[in-house]
Amino acid sequence: MKQRIYLDNSATTRVDDLVLEAMLPCFQEKFGNASSVHLFGQEARTVVEEARRSVAELIGADPREVVFTSGGTEADNWALWGMIRGGRGNHIITTAIEHPAILETCKVVESQGAEVTRVSVDSSGRVDPQAIREAIRENTTLISVMHANNETGVIQPIEEISGIARERGIVFHTDAVQSVGKIPVDVDRLGVDLLSLSGHKIHGPKGIGVLYIRKGTRIAPFMTGGSHERKRRAGTENVPAIVGLGAAARLARERLPEMGRRIAELRDHIENEASDRINGVRVNGLEPRLPNITNLSFERLEGEAAVIAMDLDGVAVSTGSACSSGSLEPSHVLMAMGLRPEVVQSSLRFSLCFHNTVQEVDCMLQTLQKVVGRLRKLAKRVSG
Ligand code: PLP
Repeated sequence: MKQRIYLDNSATTRVDDLVLEAMLPCFQEKFGNASSVHLFGQEARTVVEEARRSVAELIGADPREVVFTSGGTEADNWALWGMIRGGRGNHIITTAIEHPAILETCKVVESQGAEVTRVSVDSSGRVDPQAIREAIRENTTLISVMHANNETGVIQPIEEISGIARERGIVFHTDAVQSVGKIPVDVDRLGVDLLSLSGHKIHGPKGIGVLYIRKGTRIAPFMTGGSHERKRRAGTENVPAIVGLGAAARLARERLPEMGRRIAELRDHIENEASDRINGVRVNGLEPRLPNITNLSFERLEGEAAVIAMDLDGVAVSTGSACSSGSLEPSHVLMAMGLRPEVVQSSLRFSLCFHNTVQEVDCMLQTLQKVVGRLRKLAKRVSG
């Protein structure tokens, strides 16, 4: 069978063998309800708390500040709704380049009477902290700015923005779904009160995530019911997924140096080789960026057509976020950076993980060169 190459790790990652191994006993041996008092329950509680410590270590938090959710989307929803319902006002400041988990939720909170200011970015893909400062009002209850963008990998000036929020006594949330496990993430250094992360972006299972809640932050619960997660998030704990996330967090911590070196080199290799072999290539987004994402535009290329053609050749890449692909709407992230619509439509995202090799990248580059050449020739014939 032809080798299949996966370079869409920002959409999701393969569950690591060590993660799966850690999860398996939770289905049939340690299957208890972590809230039960008997031994089955105690065994489940032990592994849940072990996982909580591993996640806390990865982000420099106290384990009591780590609350398990059903994923990054729920954590983002909780941050917004929790502050609208339990905070000091009804105005949220966010950015134009957030994931739909934030942007679509903002539309819903607006429809319920809240106010939202969306701050844009410059052509490098970065938010200006000054623009955030200027958007603050008396009734601002939350500032939510993502740590690193899922389409371009551009890292936002979180420390500066959190400093502004702190000065004004406003709760600060960051969606760190893409940055955790790719670069060092420390909640104290970043100065955040709330932080979202997700298991399946770091070789853990899908359907598990965390909302980090700094001690003392007043936020209303999002899921109500039983008194799970110290009365903060109701619902029987998903023990296998939590254990998987714990194992993934340990692995991510060990592999951080490799991300910063080998994977960053692989990303540079993609950019350099693509630019050498194909004309009309531009890199979207400037440093600082995550080591594992590159977003490239190719003159006179239809991005969606290229994704399909590459897939037929066994190579998985994407045009942007998996949550908006298929919508044929141009990327809101690249549009916010001021790119022309035809440049936006010609962009591809390549996202790496520590399983990827230089052989895979070289093979992808060959396919890319072939596909771009073929599609450009076709487009010329159609337009001519
Ligand atoms: N936030 C960002 C930046 C993401 O990239 C994603 C997933 O693509 C999410 C939130 C949603 O996370 P989940 O898939 O765990 O719901």
